[in-house]
Amino acid sequence: MVSRVIPVENFDLVVFGGTGDLARRKILPGLFRRYAGGHIPDAARIIGAARAEMDDAAFRAFAGAAIAEFVDEDKRQGDMVERFLAHLGYVQIDATGERGWDRLKAAVRPEVVQAFYFSVAPTLFGELAERLHRFEIARPDARIVVEKPFGRDRETARALNATLASHFTEDQIYRIDHYLGKETVQNLMAVRFANILFEPLWNARHVDHVQITVAETVGVGGRGAYYDKSGAMRDMVQNHMMQLLCLIAMEAPYKFDPAAVRDEKLKVIHALQPVHPDEIVRGQYRAGRTEPAYAQDVDNPASTTESYIALKASIANWRWKGTPFYLRTGKKLRARASEIAVVFKEVPHSIFGEAEGWRENILSIRLQPNEGMTLSVMIKEPGPGGMRLTEVPLDMSFAEALGAEGADIPDAYERLIMDVIRGNQTLFMRGDEVEAAWAWVDPIIAGWEARGDRPKPYDPGSSGPEDALMLLHRDGRRWREIRE
Ligand code: NAD
Repeated sequence: MVSRVIPVENFDLVVFGGTGDLARRKILPGLFRRYAGGHIPDAARIIGAARAEMDDAAFRAFAGAAIAEFVDEDKRQGDMVERFLAHLGYVQIDATGERGWDRLKAAVRPEVVQAFYFSVAPTLFGELAERLHRFEIARPDARIVVEKPFGRDRETARALNATLASHFTEDQIYRIDHYLGKETVQNLMAVRFANILFEPLWNARHVDHVQITVAETVGVGGRGAYYDKSGAMRDMVQNHMMQLLCLIAMEAPYKFDPAAVRDEKLKVIHALQPVHPDEIVRGQYRAGRTEPAYAQDVDNPASTTESYIALKASIANWRWKGTPFYLRTGKKLRARASEIAVVFKEVPHSIFGEAEGWRENILSIRLQPNEGMTLSVMIKEPGPGGMRLTEVPLDMSFAEALGAEGADIPDAYERLIMDVIRGNQTLFMRGDEVEAAWAWVDPIIAGWEARGDRPKPYDPGSSGPEDALMLLHRDGRRWREIRE
């Protein structure tokens, strides 16, 4: 299968924080993969800009090592890596000072598409925006790409929006949420809006509930200091999980374009109801046999930050009134698995009586690993043994469906960077969306802080705290198993 790709124009991409962890693991390897795929024009340039003292050659060596570590060998054949590295340059800058900005200005061409990726600590976002403007580096239609976290509450998000807005217009600002760049997430829109099958059933009359799970096996790793000030609610729910919820719940946009899609998502966020304290379970992993507890990982014995959260969200509109959306995410869980499960209602009447083996239909959308969708349907168990039912999956696994060549699914970051160059904001969060998401999250956090709530301990390698099971049990439901 030959993949059709919308070509991009010639560009200069400046990666602030080009020597950082995100650049090393995602941005530079991702750009290389797009280059190897023939999607980056010959005259495009990628300029690393960071605090480290480095010349072009040293930055190329850094990028080369990152590519060797994070790109499969079969994609690095011949002189492909060398040719890619020839597009790279480096400028040493200080985001909080004046050093290097004149050199950056000289390095960036005014006649091509310009994109500036802010892959630095969020405290530097405003500083970078201000200097790009003051040193007249960015042309009027230049794009800036802003990493997460976007604020830590509504007030800080609003302040950051205002700072960025004083130097760039909204259509220049690309707030990244890499979940939106995942193949499955976009396929969710294709499945919902390019098929007649699902829409008539996509509502509270036919959908019993929705489960959104983002389970990780890792702990906080080296991010302890940051994570302890954030927690699962801020780090995962406010952004990634709310975006997924929006894509499941939104009305059909009149068109697949940035304004229309983002307007519909915003309406969903506005319709989210406050969450009752009984409908939230926070957890924190305790020590395992050989692994340290969360509190040790973050070096804060008194920490009350959650490494796990489960909650029940309700959307007050005609489509979803009465269908709960259960969200859960956590670290050190039994498997690394992200899934959205749309669980349909029972048939109104079973003509098979109490048929053995009956299960509800479930549309399962897997984000990782093995991106794909499965629709479980009931059939008759083969054989002469009477009418016994069995569940079989209708599988839409992308790797299989697209064949070997098409199975080269781009990573979320590379797709999103190409969208920035194309000037397509559909898969990026708009400023009002981010603020509205915080407006829903803030009172929930304020509530547990006021109550002095302490997270429930859970074992590493488990499915989370016991109380999270109860959240569904008392509604007569159960969580799907967390498995890879
Ligand atoms: P990092 O600490 O590894 O790298 C920071 C980069 O910023 C380095 O290149 C450093 O030289 C540069 N820098 C720091 N201070 C500077 C200054 N005063 N002037 C110029 N450059 C300066 O950080 P990271 O993990 O790469 O994260 C970058 C951004 O991406 C952050 O906003 C982070 O929240 C976000 N992010 C990272 C990850 C990840 O997996 N690493 C995931 C999601 C989001």
